[in-house]
Amino acid sequence: MAKLVPGAVRLRKQIDQRWPKRDRRSDGWIGDKAHSKRRSDHNPDKNGWVHALDIDENMGKRGVWRNGRNARRLANQLRMYAASDLPGSDRVKYIVYEGRIASGTYRSKWWKWRPGNWGHYQHIHISFTKAAQTDRKIWPLPILATSKKQAKHWKANLERGSSQ
Ligand SMILES: [Zn+2]
Repeated sequence: MAKLVPGAVRLRKQIDQRWPKRDRRSDGWIGDKAHSKRRSDHNPDKNGWVHALDIDENMGKRGVWRNGRNARRLANQLRMYAASDLPGSDRVKYIVYEGRIASGTYRSKWWKWRPGNWGHYQHIHISFTKAAQTDRKIWPLPILATSKKQAKHWKANLERGSSQ
């Protein structure tokens, strides 16, 4: 049985709590037939783990367009988190949104947005590392905080790049 890595399940749960009525039509996790013909983190690995999650960019009510500003902030905070020393940051492999990709692949472009032909204008694609198979800790992204105090704390950590 294919299953989404627990780290991704936790992230999606936090996003759903933050925007309970968000549009999920572009959400996804397990690969369809087209995906399975190519290499994709949406395809289950040999143990059934799926290492990718798509989050619809519309955080407003289904059908009510909310301009993607929140999605852009979310994608950006994920990128900053991935580049930080914060616990759990090693769970992110790469992020794609609005034609740009960010990853830890190239030293000179380390977790910077790289423009290109990367597609994904309806959803944010997040690929996860093996660490997300066991690490289900909370994602400390300010936009997902449940209180002002927490948001402030997480924002300071994210900007510092560590919790020290
Ligand atoms: Zn995807």
